[in-house]
Amino acid sequence: MVAPRSSPANPVAASVAERPDPAALLAWYDRHRRALPWRSLPGQVPDPYRVWLSEIMLQQTTVRAVKPYFERFLTLFPAVEALAEAPAEEVMKAWAGLGYYSRARNLHACAKAVVERFGGRFPANEDELRSLPGVGAYTAAAIASIAFDRRAIVVDGNVERVATRLYTVRRPLPGAKPLIRDLVDGLTPDARPGDFAQAMMDLGATICTPKSPACGLCPWRSACQARAEGAPEIYPFKDKKTTGALRRGAAYVAVTQDGLILVRTRPPKGLLGGMTEAPTSAWAADFAEEAPGASAPIRAEWRRLPGVVEHVFTHFPLHLTVYRTDLPAGTAAPEGCRWVPIAGLAGEALPTVMRKVVAHGLEGG
Ligand code: SF4
Repeated sequence: MVAPRSSPANPVAASVAERPDPAALLAWYDRHRRALPWRSLPGQVPDPYRVWLSEIMLQQTTVRAVKPYFERFLTLFPAVEALAEAPAEEVMKAWAGLGYYSRARNLHACAKAVVERFGGRFPANEDELRSLPGVGAYTAAAIASIAFDRRAIVVDGNVERVATRLYTVRRPLPGAKPLIRDLVDGLTPDARPGDFAQAMMDLGATICTPKSPACGLCPWRSACQARAEGAPEIYPFKDKKTTGALRRGAAYVAVTQDGLILVRTRPPKGLLGGMTEAPTSAWAADFAEEAPGASAPIRAEWRRLPGVVEHVFTHFPLHLTVYRTDLPAGTAAPEGCRWVPIAGLAGEALPTVMRKVVAHGLEGG
C-alpha cells in the first residue's frame, strides 16, 4: 500500500483529517452508478465481450458517441465468434464515423485471436489480455477488473483527475502517470475491485468533472486535499501540448448523371487505413494550391468549390480544397477507384473527414 499523504512526491498536500475510504466510494457507487449499455446490472455476471468492446470503443471517444455504435455492433456481431467471422469490410463499415480506425482493425484481429487461441473465451489474466491485438496495459487492466473482478489498477482520464485532486499531485501529466498509478494502487481494495474501478470512473465523469467539480456531493469530500486547498479544478497539471503543423491537400468529388460517386479504399495500414475516401492528393504542410484537377484520379473538367473542409486529427489539423466534376453515366472508373451509389454511401466505411468532403462536394453540385 502507498501512503500518499506522506509521499515525498506530494509535499504540498493540504491538511485533511482523513484518508479516502474505498468503502465510502463503493457505497456511493451502489446508489449512483451510471446505467450504461455495456455494464452489467448489480448481481449480474459481466460479459467480457461487452466489456472489451466498450473499452476499445471508449478509447479517445465519449460515452455519448460510443452508445449507438456499441448497440449496432452487438446487433451485427452478438458474440465474439460472429465478429471474428465477419468480413473486414463489414467491421470497418460498422465502425465508420467513430474515428481512430486502427482500433477497428485491431478489434477484428483481437476477436479472431480470442476465438483461435482461447476458444472464444476472453482470458482473465492481464498478461494474456495484453497479448491480444489492440489491448494495451490500460485496457487489459480494465477488462481484468470489470469483467472478471480481478484486482487490477485501472487509470483512465477520469481516474487521473480524481487521484490528482485527492492527493494534490502537482507533477504534470504525462510524467505523473507512474505516481498516479501508485496512488490508485494504494486506494484499490481487495474486495469488489471491479466495482471500485467503475466507481472511480463514474465519480470522475459525474461529480469530479474537469471544470466545476460538485465537491459537496462527493463521498470523499472530507478526505480530498484539492478541495481543502480550495481550487480542485486546477488539477490535473498537464505539459503543454504540441499540435502538428497544418496540412493541406485537394479532394475530388466526381459524380455521374445516374447518381454514382467515385470512391476508393485507402491502404490497409496507416491513417484511416482500410477506410473509404473520395480520392485526394497527398496531404502536406507545404501543399500548394494546384491547377484544377492536377492530382485528380480522372481527366475531366474539375471546378474548385468555395471554402475548404476543415478537420482535426490527433496530431495535425487538415484543410482540404474540394474539386467537383459531373460525368456521363457509364464513365469507366480509373484504376484503384470504384463507383458507388450516392444513396448507398451510408453503407460505406466513410470516416468523418470524408463525410465532410462528400457533403461539401455534393452541396457544390
Ligand atoms: S472533493 Fe471535489 S475535487 Fe475532491 S475528489 Fe471529490 S469532487 Fe473531486
